[in-house]
Amino acid sequence: MTAPDRTETGRTAPDHAVTAAIAEIAQAIGTAAVELDPEARERLSRDEYRMSPVLRRTLPVVVADAVVTPISVDDVVAVMRIAVAHGVPVTPRGKGTGNYGQAVPMAGGILLDLSRLTGIEEIGDASITALAGTRIVQLEQALRRDGRQLLLLPSTMQSTIGGFLAGGTGGSGSIEHGFIEDGFVLAIDVVLADGRGLVHLEGDDVLPYLHAYGTTGIIVRVTVAHEPERDWTSVLASFEDFAGARRALMALIALEPAPRIASTDMAEFGRAFPKPMTLHPDTASLRTVVDRSALEEVESIIASHGGVVERVEHSLPAEFQVCMLGFNHATWHLISAEPDRWFHAEAMGTALVERADEVLAVWPGAIQHLDAMRDRDGSPMPIGMIVAPYTTEAAIFEGVERLRELGLFASAPHSWTVNRRIDLLTETAAVTDPRGILNPGKLPRG
Ligand code: FAD
Repeated sequence: MTAPDRTETGRTAPDHAVTAAIAEIAQAIGTAAVELDPEARERLSRDEYRMSPVLRRTLPVVVADAVVTPISVDDVVAVMRIAVAHGVPVTPRGKGTGNYGQAVPMAGGILLDLSRLTGIEEIGDASITALAGTRIVQLEQALRRDGRQLLLLPSTMQSTIGGFLAGGTGGSGSIEHGFIEDGFVLAIDVVLADGRGLVHLEGDDVLPYLHAYGTTGIIVRVTVAHEPERDWTSVLASFEDFAGARRALMALIALEPAPRIASTDMAEFGRAFPKPMTLHPDTASLRTVVDRSALEEVESIIASHGGVVERVEHSLPAEFQVCMLGFNHATWHLISAEPDRWFHAEAMGTALVERADEVLAVWPGAIQHLDAMRDRDGSPMPIGMIVAPYTTEAAIFEGVERLRELGLFASAPHSWTVNRRIDLLTETAAVTDPRGILNPGKLPRG
């Protein structure tokens, strides 16, 4: 298997169109919202793609001509009207934590920084409405004051809710509630690039805008679901033997009520974690957030698989620390410590546990982080981050093929094009963005 096709791009709009658009935008929403400083443009034209040694080498590096920072929905509507009229590319950006270069403006033009389009507008009985640049942690904190919680939280809790819906998949809460397409998103307001401006969407109509990297429209307002909070307790445990930790994780997947998150990793990961979360440098670790009513059962699961409970804490900060070390965050700490050494691949399926030795043999020196997850029918479906020393791009993609032969859903996060529901997104973008100005290069177009 070779690397997937990539939609190459470079600057697509003529200089005079870009210059005219920037001048009109400054006039429409104010010069303070338009950043032209080269250092700021360069810095904001990047995201966390540096996690991938492949993307560090292959991602077309283009710097936006201007960073535009709207503070109201009307600002976004005005910017999009001008950009459409001039055919100038617009790449939305939340907090820039995407790790595939999704928020990199590969065709230059305007980088639309949505991080100041913030504010919680309404908290209903089971829904919360906020502007797209609001940080997810702020939504969660506001809900927790009322005894409620978001259904889903990515480990990047400081990222924006709009960026999570446009670039993310799931996180804490996913064991019980699945991914962002599974009922979390109740409504969105989107600014389209087809002259219609702002539209309100509900139900299945939101789907073409989820995990679409902003290629179908700019999300400006979201309404997502919340539920009663649980009496959460954080449990940290160490295991001499990672096989025991893996089996304990599988038992936690079946636990009722479901843990909010459960993660385990080999000792190498723990050594790169922030100090309070490193247990022992030479043991595997397991972290979970569970309902207090299940604590005794959890302690017994850990002990019966050879683990030692190191810490039990009943506080919001402790819970957030565990949530912020799941999924790609464990990988991020490891790779950030030695960026030239590692690459990572993602996989889902029970073979991560049942055929663990074969999985780890795919790449020499591979190590593993696992998160608990259930399939839609409730059966265990662990998610794994496999990290290994980087040799060549071909070796990564050959290894991903081998993981699939082992029965896993596997992907290598080393490509910047959208990777899910491509037909739906392409059909939608043909209508909502006929000039192809939204985040060019991320969606194959016919
Ligand atoms: P950005 O990275 O700025 O943008 C993400 C994508 O959405 C880009 O394509 C951008 O163009 C587009 N976009 C941004 N805002 C909008 C908008 N308002 N309208 C339309 N398009 C928009 N993801 C998970 O799902 N779960 C995790 O647990 C998780 N953990 C992560 C851990 C680490 C260490 C890293 C580096 C990444 C992780 N991610 C995770 C991926 C990513 O960080 C999240 O999806 C995050 O929520 C993205 O939010 P952001 O505000 O940083 O968006």
